[in-house]
Amino acid sequence: MLDHLTYTAPEPKVIAGARGDWELVIGLEVHAQVASNAKLFSGASTTFGAEPNSNVSFVDAAMPGMLPVINEFCVEQAVRTGLGLKADINLFSAFDRKNYFYPDLPQGYQISQLYHPIVGEGEVFVDMAPGVARRVRIERIHLEQDAGKSIHDMDPALSFVDLNRTGVALMEIVSRPDIRGPEEAAAYVAKLRQIMRYLGTCDGNMQNGNLRADVNVSVCKPGDYERFRETGDFSVLGTRCEIKNMNSMRFIQAAIEYEARRQIAIIEDGGKIVQETRLYDPDKGETRSMRSKEEAHDYRYFPDPDLLPLEIEQAWVDDIAGSMPELPDEKKARFVKELGLSEYDAGVLTAEVENADFFEAVAEGRDGKQAANWVINELFGRLNKEGLTIADSPVSAAQLGGVLDLIGSGEISGKMAKDLFEIVWTEGGDPAEIAQARGMKQVTDLGAIEAAVDGIIAANPAQVEKARANPKLAGWFTGQVLKATGGKANPAAVNEMVAKKLGL
Ligand code: ADP
Ligand code: MG
Repeated sequence: MLDHLTYTAPEPKVIAGARGDWELVIGLEVHAQVASNAKLFSGASTTFGAEPNSNVSFVDAAMPGMLPVINEFCVEQAVRTGLGLKADINLFSAFDRKNYFYPDLPQGYQISQLYHPIVGEGEVFVDMAPGVARRVRIERIHLEQDAGKSIHDMDPALSFVDLNRTGVALMEIVSRPDIRGPEEAAAYVAKLRQIMRYLGTCDGNMQNGNLRADVNVSVCKPGDYERFRETGDFSVLGTRCEIKNMNSMRFIQAAIEYEARRQIAIIEDGGKIVQETRLYDPDKGETRSMRSKEEAHDYRYFPDPDLLPLEIEQAWVDDIAGSMPELPDEKKARFVKELGLSEYDAGVLTAEVENADFFEAVAEGRDGKQAANWVINELFGRLNKEGLTIADSPVSAAQLGGVLDLIGSGEISGKMAKDLFEIVWTEGGDPAEIAQARGMKQVTDLGAIEAAVDGIIAANPAQVEKARANPKLAGWFTGQVLKATGGKANPAAVNEMVAKKLGL
């Protein structure tokens, strides 16, 4: 448990039915495509968007006599992911054949890991609000092959098959049924995505199907879930339905909400939930039955005779553990503790690893809070407005740091810094040189400020009387001096001088 987090027990989403309250129970199977240039058991490329059927080796096409060869890098990525989820790494794992027929599965089976997955139990802290997290337990992660793609909407009479995705490595991350509501489910997927992007083990591009989730939903009466957690007895929970292949956070939430209400209506009507696989239709906003649930025995799983069990050495796992990057929770905790940032700001800055890296480069050797304000408000604000990511930022960390240095040394005011940022954004260049060339320099020369203050005081005796009677009016003098100096005088120094001269 991280000390900066307030851990809260899962708060179930409660839905009022016609006959009382219901709670949600959710477990997710997340399929994460391993970030690897080659497939799990062949050397074919995994490049997205390639010409259909161009990234297909004889192994992927299941030509007779072809044999799979395990891709060590994919195994390493799975181990790294397991370590990132604080999970047990199984030094012994093995591959099984999951048999089914489908046109986009030339082998007639998928190579997966049923009996001996490579990663065992782990945990994820799911961020629900700044500083508030919930723990979701991971049951296992196994490695498996992806299937190809059937395309039914290109021709009215024909279906097409694209085998580019066939054999690409997936990590299936299975959660315990610890998730209690739609927002929590989406936040869980977001956290997995974030951790894997930090680790570099999955790109997490949901639009490309890089990260997709099967969402299991059931409903139960208040109190039942607690009994389940005490006893581990699944029969006290409701029957679950599985919604397949969700690749949008928004749809995940909508589908869960719909599915829970559908189940409640059936149960309250005296019906029974049938365990089945369902599909979410985003246009209609509803789930519909796809097929009745198959059990493991339907797939006739058996150990793949073409592949030896996978035995890895603890020393190798230790090596990988030694090369782990700082993960989001730890980074956020450090930003809060060492840089004094708020939980909220630390959360924004660590959301994407690229953003965190940029911020750290700006904050290095400077005031952390000020750096955070500038990165979040000025830079991210501007990037958002223009629809850009940090990779496309026209202002580099060094340039933004340069602007902050000029503020820090008192050379420019906050207002000037914003103008300077704007110039660097549109024209590029070195902030110090630009400030120099354009005469952006605030006057902290006390002699000059004194002269300006004296001038304004001498010219406005009536205002002087008023300000002496009511010190709040001294601000008027500051304003006049700033105006007279063309906004270049250091406001803090002017304030001080005005107070001194008025005898306040
Ligand atoms: P399968 O591949 O048959 O769907 P898995 O064991 O891979 O089985 O995944 C089952 C998922 O369903 C897990 O995430 C588990 O936590 C979840 N689950 C199990 N029982 C329930 C339930 N009653 N309600 C909601 N989710 C459940
Ligand atoms: Mg499933």
